[in-house]
Amino acid sequence: MSCIFCKIVAGEIPSTLVAANDEAIAIADLQPMAPTHVLVMPRVHAANFAAYLRERPQGVSALFSLATEIGERCEAGYRFVVNTGGDGGQTVEHLHVHVLGGRAMQWPPG
Ligand code: 5GP
Ligand code: ZN
Repeated sequence: MSCIFCKIVAGEIPSTLVAANDEAIAIADLQPMAPTHVLVMPRVHAANFAAYLRERPQGVSALFSLATEIGERCEAGYRFVVNTGGDGGQTVEHLHVHVLGGRAMQWPPG
């Protein structure tokens, strides 16, 4: 398996661990786009949210619980982003929820 996030989950590639639960880990993004920029990803490989929902629906609650735990640290608000596919801007094909906070977000997104 050549998936970079699977390697991070396995500890084969170093990352800054922010939080974790049985289902998912939360790591600092390598190129942060906001003061808080954390990636929350399932421990199992799933290419995107649709695949995860199909293959592991029982994990969704714990994945978003972890993302919410990170987001709630940003008292002024936060944003979840799940880029999917080419037009969605997805560059790593292992599901991850971006948790962004610490500054005012813009709308509409680019
Ligand atoms: P996507 O574009 O797929 O939604 O997001 C991929 C994210 O993963 C990007 O924000 C990118 O900075 C981050 N990223 C890519 N490679 C690594 C890595 O090796 N370690 C960490 N911590 N983040 C990474
Ligand atoms: Zn993977």
